[in-house]
Amino acid sequence: MFKKILIANRGEIACRVIRTARAMGIQTVAVYSDADSLALHVREADEAVHIGGAPASESYLVIEKIIDAVKQTGAEAVHPGYGFLSENRAFAEALDAEGIAFIGPPAGAIEAMGDKITSKKLAAEAGVTTVPGYMGLIEDADEAVKIAGDIGYPVMIKASAGGGGKGMRVAWNDEEAREGFQSSKNEAASSFGDDRIFIEKFITQPRHIEIQVLGDKHGNVLYLGERECSIQRRNQKVIEEAPSPFLDAKTRKAMGEQSVALSQAVDYCSAGTVEFIVDGDRNFYFLEMNTRLQVEHPVTELITGIDLVEQMIKVAAGEKLKLKQKDVKLTGWAMESRIYAEDPYRGFLPSTGRLSYYRPPQEKVADGITVRNDTGVYEGGEISLFYDPMIAKLITHGPDRLSAVDAMSDALDGFRIDGIRHNIDFVGAIMGHQRFRDGNLTTAFIDEEYPEGFDGAPLDDTRQKALAALGYVMMRKRLLRATQTSHVLTSHEYDPASEMMVDIGGAVMRVDEAKTGVTLDGQVVALATDWQPGDLFAHAEVDGETICVTVERLAEGYRLTGRGRAVEVKVRSLLAQELMQHVPEVVDDGSDMALICPMPGVVMSVAVAEGNVVKAGQPLAVVEAMKMENILRAEKDVTIAKVLCAEGDKLAVDDIMIEFE
Ligand code: ADP
Ligand code: ADP
Ligand code: MG
Repeated sequence: MFKKILIANRGEIACRVIRTARAMGIQTVAVYSDADSLALHVREADEAVHIGGAPASESYLVIEKIIDAVKQTGAEAVHPGYGFLSENRAFAEALDAEGIAFIGPPAGAIEAMGDKITSKKLAAEAGVTTVPGYMGLIEDADEAVKIAGDIGYPVMIKASAGGGGKGMRVAWNDEEAREGFQSSKNEAASSFGDDRIFIEKFITQPRHIEIQVLGDKHGNVLYLGERECSIQRRNQKVIEEAPSPFLDAKTRKAMGEQSVALSQAVDYCSAGTVEFIVDGDRNFYFLEMNTRLQVEHPVTELITGIDLVEQMIKVAAGEKLKLKQKDVKLTGWAMESRIYAEDPYRGFLPSTGRLSYYRPPQEKVADGITVRNDTGVYEGGEISLFYDPMIAKLITHGPDRLSAVDAMSDALDGFRIDGIRHNIDFVGAIMGHQRFRDGNLTTAFIDEEYPEGFDGAPLDDTRQKALAALGYVMMRKRLLRATQTSHVLTSHEYDPASEMMVDIGGAVMRVDEAKTGVTLDGQVVALATDWQPGDLFAHAEVDGETICVTVERLAEGYRLTGRGRAVEVKVRSLLAQELMQHVPEVVDDGSDMALICPMPGVVMSVAVAEGNVVKAGQPLAVVEAMKMENILRAEKDVTIAKVLCAEGDKLAVDDIMIEFE
């Protein structure tokens, strides 16, 4: 076995690999860029080597620098993680030439699976079902229209070199096929420097289901069940689970066996993933193979009990797989939420800055529930704009699907991040969404369920009452403490003896103390909490239900966040509440007169021109930052006075992009 390995990556995946290596008694070497000198993966590794500038193109993507770091530290093998150099044939070959082991598949398999047309042909030859379509290259728009007509609409026009959801268009008619061909070709040329295009049938009501494979260098390949990744936003996975609520044993076996056949056809070893698109009738079609460890691999680990990184390291060292297909047992259900530094309330704009609080839920294995948090950040650390916005992966496992979902809801309620915007409310809302709980998923779920964007999970009556009661009890504790510490009775507005009202999102209730809790409009709500002023979380038992919320102090009460929604609870005396009615409501007239660039990035396109009249929600421009294209939309109805940016411009935060009238 290796004595020392180098991890050519950063963030949570570097930390993940270090954890297993350490458990195996292997020394670890981290590499880092200028932006990462204080990063968690650097702290956790035994040694760390600085490899260059903050942009990945000056550090994590430079093969020679990684090889130098290996030589300098005497590491015997390299784990590439995902992204960066993980699917780069030249990297695998360069390591090979230096006699350094690559903890991944052979260069030939990376090459064969790296191109969508080639891999689709190989898959068809290996007996794998592929999406019906035309396998050749398409020369021009006329040919595209003809072929699309032959296949039958709708069709998917795709770049052979595509990845990350780019260079891909759906067409429902001749006109869209013509346009789609041209725009896919342009996007592919600019993103991948390769404009080869092909066309296949667009699968309707699609679900994304993928098979985990694991092979050794002795010809053995196993499949470790599937993962469903249908909850996607702009082709980026957000929530993944294993197994899939949609597959039956027969389909699972058929997909698994086809995946093994394809892997064997390219002499695959190490961990890999065969992605399929599955239609409403459980017909499944090969999409592509990812020749690396996948972001969502933990859900497979939790249902199989297999440590995939450990297996990858052993395989790279030449060991034979000890497992046989019949030893692979799928137990229970696992869910993963990707925690992104992005603001779901503002069109998912990425967010950068310092983590003033980072309090993940307790990892645990207890009462049949597992909670795991794979993270690459720490409290006080910085989220930089140079890398992708994923900061953690929260994973839960339970005996069945709903127990895993409920465990996820609970774990998300116990996750506190401040200082940057994050998507905890958004994934929390999905966990509570009935259609998600029913397992009725397609890749269009987010678009269909949140067509107007995200505005917090709905608040039901029971929850509203529980939070109103809790907010009141918290406020009482705060006032009591204030009285005790200052020995001065607070003003009459806060006199505990006076009649009190609680205002929760505009719903006003009369509130009073009761023996076992409080009364709301005369109704008793049983409540017990050990919360003390200053605590970041409040745990309470309300009418027999346990709840946990994160707490932010407001002048007149608290903002309590949980179950995918933040709620403001305000506590006032009857008199103050009555006076409130005379306070004019502050209306946000959106007095901003310009579109300000919210993050450093490059302008991809501008959707408006001087004089255009634009409705709230309509796109104004697209800016690329943190590897994502971000659509900036109008926050209210506006007329465009002046456009101050153009495609290709590099912008800093707060640069004025567009002025409104
Ligand atoms: P997986 O297939 O493992 O679920 P993704 O497909 O979301 O993961 O992404 C895999 C890797 O590719 C990640 O490291 C991610 O950072 C990178 N990646 C995804 N989309 C893009 C993109 N548009 N540009 C560059 N890298 C990307
Ligand atoms: P990438 O390399 O960008 O990951 P994929 O081929 O894996 O490209 O496709 C990304 C996503 O696009 C899939 O997860 C699926 O949601 C959708 N998609 C791809 N091909 C089709 C198709 N033929 N029909 C319907 N949806 C598709
Ligand atoms: Mg894919």
